[in-house]
Amino acid sequence: MKSISELSIGGKKVMVRVDFNVPLDDQGRITDDTRIKAHLPTINYVIGQKGKLILASHLGRPKGKRAEKYSLKPVSLRLSELLGRPVTFVDDCVGPEAEKAVAEMKERDVVLLENLRFHAEEEKNDKGFARELAKLCDVYVDDAFAAAHRGHASNAGITGYVSDCAAGLLLASELDYLKKATEDPVRPLVAIIGGAKVSDKIGVLDRLTEKVDKLIIGGGMAFTFLRALGYEVGLSLCEQDMLDVARTIMTKAADRHVRLYLPVDCVISQAASADAVTKYVTVQEIPKEWMALDIGPASTTLFGEALADARTIVWNGPMGMFELAPFSRGTFGLVNFVASAHALSIVGGGDTDTAVHQAGAAARISYISTGGGAFLELLEGKAMPAVEALENCGGQK
Ligand code: AMP
Repeated sequence: MKSISELSIGGKKVMVRVDFNVPLDDQGRITDDTRIKAHLPTINYVIGQKGKLILASHLGRPKGKRAEKYSLKPVSLRLSELLGRPVTFVDDCVGPEAEKAVAEMKERDVVLLENLRFHAEEEKNDKGFARELAKLCDVYVDDAFAAAHRGHASNAGITGYVSDCAAGLLLASELDYLKKATEDPVRPLVAIIGGAKVSDKIGVLDRLTEKVDKLIIGGGMAFTFLRALGYEVGLSLCEQDMLDVARTIMTKAADRHVRLYLPVDCVISQAASADAVTKYVTVQEIPKEWMALDIGPASTTLFGEALADARTIVWNGPMGMFELAPFSRGTFGLVNFVASAHALSIVGGGDTDTAVHQAGAAARISYISTGGGAFLELLEGKAMPAVEALENCGGQK
């Protein structure tokens, strides 16, 4: 796979596929611009090399139809502020309007195309649509790691119609860091997996038992594991149809001498609300009418001790319902342990990323991935369609 530094960019129309899928409030204001900032190195590189920069992205799930609330217009304004230069927003990502805007571009100009997903053909990886996009540029750069596990027209199909393609700086650094954790990591390698459901993360849990030295399981999914071990978990999240899967993962871990850590205590409540009455109990004592919504202090200490000798840490998924203050301590406590570990620490997934930022620990984490699904699929060892497409680039217009 080529790197952007190997491309000749000066004077050329350079399309960069970015992931500007930022959260917006009901007024259409951006509530977190991390995803925009993450692409600035690539954007500034293209501008610095005197390219004509055409940015293409998706936002939300408009399901193939134009919908104002998913417009990238607010992103163009924020990007313009961040760059300190004008960003021309084009109301469509293909067709006459886009072609005209691109034809008028001069070196160092920046154009942002409207949401790719306003066209159903994007997610279908439609060839005709990919060709329409390719028509707009001379060279293509993919920088959207968070979308790389999906093979769509703008990140897979397009590479068949552009003669020169490369990975942007963000995509390259994401792949590089995750490789450090998955291929020949410095050991002990410890994975922390949390979040709501086992069923969402079976693949990654299974694969991790083949790679890690220690596996820490927290969050809602831990209660399916505890139930599989015979504990009463009351009204806690528990996937009955995943009990066998949980048992298989535990057996596999034991067979491979992977040390598996589950919570030993938890924060319980009868309501998932910010003013809920809570209690701490051991996992042996969860009452029938109560649910466990966070790991307890003893578990945080236990997990922290398990991390003490870690040299590489990968983490996805919160330890509890951390969006609500009474159930956030486990996740924030763990953030501090991960941040102070003498290890390469790699965190991925929207919630985990939010927790690290809220705890003010972002600067003490080695790498925060912009990918959620992509991060998990890479840990799982799955091929990434967009990366494969870049590797096989070199089609004809
Ligand atoms: P995921 O997307 O699978 O990483 O799950 C993240 C979600 O899991 C967050 O919104 C948390 O609120 C939720 N979560 C974590 N722990 C629990 C728990 N013990 N009970 C219910 N939800 C939880």
